[in-house]
Amino acid sequence: MADKITINADSSLNVPDEPIIPFIEGDGIGVDIWPAARSVLDAAAAKHGKSIEWIEVLAGEKAFNETGDWLPQATIDSFNEHLIGIKGPLTTPIGGGFRSLNVAIRQIMDLYVCLRPVRWFKGVPSPVKQPELVDMVIFRENTEDIYAGLEVEAGTPEAAKMREMLLDGFGWEIADDAGIGVKPISKTGSQRLQRAAVQYAVRRGRKRVHWVHKGNIMKFTEGAFRNWGYDLIREEFSDVAVGWDDCGGDPGDKILVQDAIADIALQQVLTRPAEFDVIATMNLNGDYLSDALAAQVGGIGIAPGANINYVTGHGVFEATHGTAPKYAGQDKVNPSSVLLSGVLMFEHLGWQEAADDIVRAVEATIGDKVVTYDFARMLDGATEVKCSEFASAIIDRL
Ligand code: NAP
Repeated sequence: MADKITINADSSLNVPDEPIIPFIEGDGIGVDIWPAARSVLDAAAAKHGKSIEWIEVLAGEKAFNETGDWLPQATIDSFNEHLIGIKGPLTTPIGGGFRSLNVAIRQIMDLYVCLRPVRWFKGVPSPVKQPELVDMVIFRENTEDIYAGLEVEAGTPEAAKMREMLLDGFGWEIADDAGIGVKPISKTGSQRLQRAAVQYAVRRGRKRVHWVHKGNIMKFTEGAFRNWGYDLIREEFSDVAVGWDDCGGDPGDKILVQDAIADIALQQVLTRPAEFDVIATMNLNGDYLSDALAAQVGGIGIAPGANINYVTGHGVFEATHGTAPKYAGQDKVNPSSVLLSGVLMFEHLGWQEAADDIVRAVEATIGDKVVTYDFARMLDGATEVKCSEFASAIIDRL
C-alpha cells in the first residue's frame, strides 16, 4: 500500500517501502530522459523489495498549456505534502513573471542547499588527465546572494531612487546609467548551509570541508560567510571538526575545515582536485564552481543535483542541464543527469543499496562503451544507443 514520506521531530525521514513521490517530467528533452530514468529507478527499487508510486505534477510549458500557469500552486502543494520530489529541466518563461522556475521552486520551498556531487564515472570521456581524482560534493547556498533577485534596471525611476538613497545615506556615488543589485549574505543563511555541509561530511566519512569565498574583496558578505563558518565549527562541531587556524593544519582524527578564495579555488580544483572533498559556498560562486567541475568529469549530461531543506525535510532532486530543445522528442540525449539525481534521492531516502546498484550499472554500461551520442562522439569504438536503449542497457546490468 503506497504511503506518504513523513518527517520526525529530529528532521529524520520515515520512508515507507512504497512511498508516493511527485515528479515533474520537464520540458524539451524531459519527455525523453524522464521515462528512461524512471524505468531504471523502478527496476533498482524492485530489486530491493521497494516500489514508488509516482504522481505527475505540472510545471513549465506543459503546465502553462494545460492550466495557463507556469508553476501551479497545486505543484508546490504536492511537493510540500510529500516532502520529496524529482524534476526534469524546465523552460525559463520569457516575460512570464518568473526569473526562473527552478529558482522560484527553491525560494518558495526555502530549499536552502543546492547539493551537487561531482565525481567521475569510469570510462566517461573527460578533458582532464586524471578525472578519477575528482570526487567533491558542493553545497551551494540557494536562497541569498546576488541571486536573490534584488535588482533595479539602469535608467528606471527605481534605479534613480536607489542611487539617491545611497548618495544621501552613505555618500556612495553610483553612475547614473548603472543597474544596481543587492547581495544579502546573512549569518543564519550561511550557517544553515555550512551546518548541512559538515553534517554531510560526518555522515559520509569525508575528511575535509572548504569554505569557498571572495572575502578578501567582499569583506562583509563573503568574508563574513568565512568567519561565520569557523565560528560554527567552534560552537557546534568541535568534537568532530576543527578549523585550520585552530589546529595549524593538523586536524588529527577530526574533519579539517579550511577556506579558499574563489579564484584560487577554481584553479586548484583543476590542478589539485584530490585536495578538495566537501565544498560549501554562496550562490553565485557555487553556480560557477559546479558547472566548471561538471566539465572535468564529462559535462552536464551526467551531473546530478538536489535542492534540500534539511530542517523541514523537503527535497527536490533535478537534472542540472536545461531543456536542450533541439533534441526534444528524439530519444537521443543522455538521461544520466536526472537518473543520478534519482540516485541522490534514493540515498536521501536511505535506499543506499539500490542507489549503489544503479551507480555500478551505469559504470558497467559506460565501461562497455554503450553510450548516448554525447559520449559516443568522444569515445573511440563506442556503440551509440538511444536514450531509452541506454536505460535498458543499465537495467540489464543492475
Ligand atoms: P541546455 O538545455 O542545458 O543545453 C545546452 C547543451 O548541453 C545542449 O545543446 C547539449 O549539447 C548539452 N546537453 C544538455 N542536456 C544534455 C543531455 N541530457 N545529454 C547530452 N547533452 C546535453 O542549455 P540551453 O540550451 O542554454 O537552455 C535551454 C533551456 O533550458 C532554456 O529555456 C533555459 O532557461 C533552460 N534551462 C533550464 C535548466 C533547469 O531546468 N535546471 C537549467 C539550465 C537551462 P550539444 O549541443 O553539444 O549536444
